[in-house]
This record gives sequence, C-alpha cells and structure tokens, in this order.
Amino acid sequence: MSGARKPGRNFLFVPGPTNVPDRILRAMHVAMEDHRSPDFPKLTRPLYERLKAVFKTEEGQVFIFSSSGTGAWEAALTNTRAPGDKLLASRFGQFSHLWIELARRHGLEVIVQDEEWGTGANPERIEEALRADKTHEIKGVMVVHNETATGVTSDVAAVRRAIDAAGHPAMLYVDGVSSIASLDFRMDEWGVDVAITGSQKGLMLPAGLGIACASKKALAAMKQGNCRRAYFDFTDHMATNPNGYFPYTPAVTLLHGLREALDVLDEEGLENVFVRHHRLAGGARAAVRAWGLKLCAKEPKWYSDTVSAIMVPPGFNGADVIATAYQRYNLALGAGLSQVAGKLFRIGHLGDLNELMLLGAIAGAEMAMRDIGIEVELGSGVAAAQAHFRGGAELRQVAAE
Ligand code: PLP
Repeated sequence: MSGARKPGRNFLFVPGPTNVPDRILRAMHVAMEDHRSPDFPKLTRPLYERLKAVFKTEEGQVFIFSSSGTGAWEAALTNTRAPGDKLLASRFGQFSHLWIELARRHGLEVIVQDEEWGTGANPERIEEALRADKTHEIKGVMVVHNETATGVTSDVAAVRRAIDAAGHPAMLYVDGVSSIASLDFRMDEWGVDVAITGSQKGLMLPAGLGIACASKKALAAMKQGNCRRAYFDFTDHMATNPNGYFPYTPAVTLLHGLREALDVLDEEGLENVFVRHHRLAGGARAAVRAWGLKLCAKEPKWYSDTVSAIMVPPGFNGADVIATAYQRYNLALGAGLSQVAGKLFRIGHLGDLNELMLLGAIAGAEMAMRDIGIEVELGSGVAAAQAHFRGGAELRQVAAE
C-alpha cells in the first residue's frame, strides 16, 4: 500500500514504553546462551546489588521476574499477604485502581480511600484510618508513587510518617513503575516494605522485566504470606538467585539490556537523572501554561516530573489530539484512561530524552491541537519551554563560572 510509510523517527512520548537508547538495543543483540552455564552469574549477580542502589536500599532484596510491572504488583502482595488480609489503599487514577482490583482478585480485602483524580495519597486520611484501627487489622498500605494516568506524584515519605504517627505496624507497599530511576525514590529512608517497578520506563528497556524489592520486614512476612502463587514465589528465587541463577528460563536479552541500562544511569548519575527529569517536566509545564490549558494535577505539589496529563478544553476530545498527532506527525502521545478518557492527553517525559526531543513533542502536540480546532497559538508552547530550558542553561553557566 503506497503512502503508508511514516518517514523519520517515531516520536515516542507515551509515558512508557520509553525510548530505548541505541547502546541498550545493541547490548541486547546477543546470541542466546545457556542460563545454567558457569559464566551466566557474571551477568546476573551484579544486577541485584546495582538495582539496590536504584531503589536506594541496603537491606532490601531484589527479585527480577520476566513479566511486566503488573507481575511485580502481584508478587509484592501474594508473597507477603494471606487471603482475607486487610489493606488500605488510596485510589486516584487508573493504575491505583488496577492494583486494588488485582489485590481483590487474590482475596485481599482492600479499604479504599478515594481521592479526587488529579490529587494523590492523603497522609492525614491514612493516619486517621490507621489510628482508628486499634486492633491492627490493616496489614498494609498501598500507594502508587507516580500515578501515570493523571501525572500525579504522591509524597511517600509523608505516608511513612503518617503510618509511624499512628503507631501502626502496617507495611508500606509502593508502586514505583513510573517513578523509580526517574524520580527520587528512597526505599530505606522512607521505610518502604515492598517497592516494585517495570523495565519499560525509567530503566529505558523494553517491557518484560517486573522488579520487586522487599525489606527485611517484608521477607519476614512471607511466613504468613499464603496467598496462592507459583510463578511469582520469592522463595524459588531466594534458592537460586544468590548463585546467579533463576528458577526458570530468564529473559536473557533483557538482562543484558539491564546491565547496559544500569551503566547508562551510572554514567549520568542517578541524582543528575532526577534533575534532568525535573528540568524537562518544567519545560512541558511551561508549554501547558502558554497554551492556556490546565494539567490534570490540581496543584504544584502533585506535579509529576515524568508525565504531564493535559486537559483539553470542553467540547474537544483528547483522543482526537492523539490520533492527529500520530497520523500526521508520527508523534505518540498518551491517552486518557477510564474516568479521564477523552478529557486529556499525556506527554511522557521520562527515560532517555533531552530538551530538543521534548520540544519536538510539544511542537507536534501544538500542531495537532490546532488541527482539531483548539485555539492554541502555534509556537507558544515551544517558546515557553525553550525559555524554561534556556533559564536552566543560564543557571548552569553561572554554576560553571
Ligand atoms: N503502575 C503504574 C504506575 C503504571 O504506569 C503501569 C503501566 O503503565 C503499571 C503499574 C502496570 O505496569 P505494566 O503495564 O508494565 O504491567
């Protein structure tokens, strides 16, 4: 069929999967090998220690599954909980909703605190619920650190303080799928008991690795954790991982990619990665302001540095912006999910990207909006983001002098 080819690079600006750097793609281009060979642990054993640095934990234990992030969600709960256990969860977007549904399918009883979409976990309400739970029936608190559906980041440290202030022993379960390796995440300092992530966002890999990290308290809770599980059982990994092996065939190519991704993160420096994400997100937000549009995130304290969810004006459909951007400009933007379907589009600004790449996405979003009749001034978002980035450049110059 003629005319079907889209020349040039696809501008991938969904909030995951993210762009995979060429060097990571090359690192995965390897011949298959025996995952039980004496050489295999040379690849695998360092990965656990290096991932601990990404989670910022010394005492935690890392588990790598061949799954997407959803598998890691399942592993976190089924290894440490028993059917009928009560969990407290904040719900403020599609991913917090889906994790709750997964917990329920495993027979866990979830007390849901609904928060307005565009806001996040409410530490005061969490503390109140835990204080009221005098007999400590609530076994865990579930929080999605970065709600990818709405572009909202919650304050996990504040949730830990709320649990402690209530003097409650509940464990803290955190979804870091769209935060870990992009936003500052401190497993030990924040007293997170199980943190999970997936490979296709901040780790700059294809989807296919679900990674969980469990604290000592979480490992001890495995004694009572008799939810049904097989593939995701930590125990089988604990028996094989220390020697560099897996209980089943691992995703060998992704492990090669992971090693390279960790090198990439080390070379930039994790703290610099966070600063870059903050700078890029600031540019995206400057563009949104210049367009006269609003983010789904209600207040600056909720703003996510990895994804911006941008509300389209009443009478317009966000899906039309996304379809136009894709068809005319080869730009992939993120869709509005569930409650916010049609009301917004998302620009993912996480993983391997820089200012000029993001300016391309902003330019494309601007054109697509104008194409469907949204009255944004062409160039206004690009100029605002440029000014934001130049401001950063000037500051860097001052620092260098
Ligand atoms: N949690 C969050 C915050 C996510 O953004 C996603 C996916 O985008 C998931 C969980 C589910 O992860 P996966 O699609 O890798 O199973």
